[in-house]
Amino acid sequence: MKNILFLTTGGTIACEETEEGLIPSLSGQDLIERVPEIKTLCQITVADVCKLDSSNLQPENWSKWAKLIGDNYTKYDGFVITHGTDTMAYTSSALSHMLVNLGKPVVLTGSQVPINLANSDARSNLELAFTIASSNLAGVFIAFGNKVIKGDCAKKIFAKNFNAFESINETPVLFFDKTGIKKNLPCGEVLGEFKVEEKLDPRVMAITITPGLRPDIIDFAVAQGNKGIVLECFGAGGVDTATNNFLPAIKRAIHKGVRVVCVSQCLFDGVDLTLYPMGILAAQAGVESGGLMTLEAALTKLMFVLANE
Ligand code: ASP
Repeated sequence: MKNILFLTTGGTIACEETEEGLIPSLSGQDLIERVPEIKTLCQITVADVCKLDSSNLQPENWSKWAKLIGDNYTKYDGFVITHGTDTMAYTSSALSHMLVNLGKPVVLTGSQVPINLANSDARSNLELAFTIASSNLAGVFIAFGNKVIKGDCAKKIFAKNFNAFESINETPVLFFDKTGIKKNLPCGEVLGEFKVEEKLDPRVMAITITPGLRPDIIDFAVAQGNKGIVLECFGAGGVDTATNNFLPAIKRAIHKGVRVVCVSQCLFDGVDLTLYPMGILAAQAGVESGGLMTLEAALTKLMFVLANE
């Protein structure tokens, strides 16, 4: 039987109803007792790391968890992390960057409905997560609803639907519906020795470009001490280069050593800075293309790169 380290961090899956709303309070042991089947899949060791709504998580939390996984890497065959769904895609992206040459499964899951409520999706999600964590797949994954998604391709697209996450610009690793299971398994080739690069620079800000937005928001972001800016642009990478011309402010930021990366507001297809004049001009000004990356992947990648270069 595989040995799995089960890290619990809070989220709806562990919530109980209170007068103030849903509050994470259940332990890992409480969760396991409600899904006894998972004890037949693997040997589980619980580490209750925190009990937080994921909106309250910080980059320091991701660094601590990466280190915890690193410290326990040789003792366990896989890792399951229960987590709130709201920022799960940021955590899974950050861990994907920090756990370098990962040769084992690290699987995040949670639920839209607390495990104690009738019709909760928690039990099936936990069963899926422990199944993947007990497999020979290597990498960071989100196991949720009817999919298993690579950690740095995930995005939460539904606030309540049980299939809360979508795999962006990459076929899900596993997808199942009534027609069966579709697989797009990662090749599993690990090119070097596993290591944890847990340092992150949180001085990164995302700015969503909207019609009428004034470019001095960029100067403000720089004045606030940010070292990286992710611009969530229109379509294939558009920013206003006419009435509210963003290019001078972008150039000023880059001149001060700030990295500016462009991702798309569209869910799919990413950015292509060779297509329209504004994309070409932005690239000439020094804006880096985020390519097919999600906002979550680009933001955490910038935090990672700034801390490690
Ligand atoms: N607010 C919750 C959280 O992200 C939502 C959830 O877990 O579904 O912690």
